[in-house]
Amino acid sequence: MATDLEFAAGEFSAWLAAIRGAIRSGDAMDVPCGNCTACCTSSQFVHVAPDESEALARIPADLLFPAPGLPDGHVVLGYDDRGHCPMLVDARCSIYDHRPRTCRTYDCRVLVAAGFADDEDVPVEISRRATRWRFEEGDSSAGLERAAVEAAATFLAERPEALPPAAGRPSLTRLAALAIEVADLFVDDRPDAPEVRSALDARLTS
Ligand code: SF4
Repeated sequence: MATDLEFAAGEFSAWLAAIRGAIRSGDAMDVPCGNCTACCTSSQFVHVAPDESEALARIPADLLFPAPGLPDGHVVLGYDDRGHCPMLVDARCSIYDHRPRTCRTYDCRVLVAAGFADDEDVPVEISRRATRWRFEEGDSSAGLERAAVEAAATFLAERPEALPPAAGRPSLTRLAALAIEVADLFVDDRPDAPEVRSALDARLTS
């Protein structure tokens, strides 16, 4: 059970199925954030895809910039000189019901699952929050799944040739999401980089 300094992250296998579905579908992830706004105040660029018309209609055009390495129409929403998203007003998202897909599917528990939560490359406020999550493991398969996600994340961090092409070095959040996508390959096996790359290519385009 989580203590006062910890947050209950839920049962691992149920959470893993939910986050995998959210990453694939773009549907909102139900994250018990409470009053935490760390991900909106940590100097992060928010990707907005061309099909996100509801979000694009509500974000002033002068806050959007072409997304490096992505086709025309993909943009990023930047942050102000405090590192805050400009759509955060009075500590609340002013476009919450129409926020970008990146925000709807963001869940800092992916960093915990991947073993990255206390990595120095994670923005400090996000790390502070993420390291307080505590998963429950309902049965032994949850432990195996969790070990597989961590193994996949470590592999992807060490073997960039297994990653799909991208502009620049992917964030740890992105690596964690990719690890969740291919964790099943690591349950009883240690695949090589071409196998992982091939699985990612197939799954990210399906
Ligand atoms: S658009 Fe809303 S949810 Fe997304 S980073 Fe900005 S304030 Fe946060």
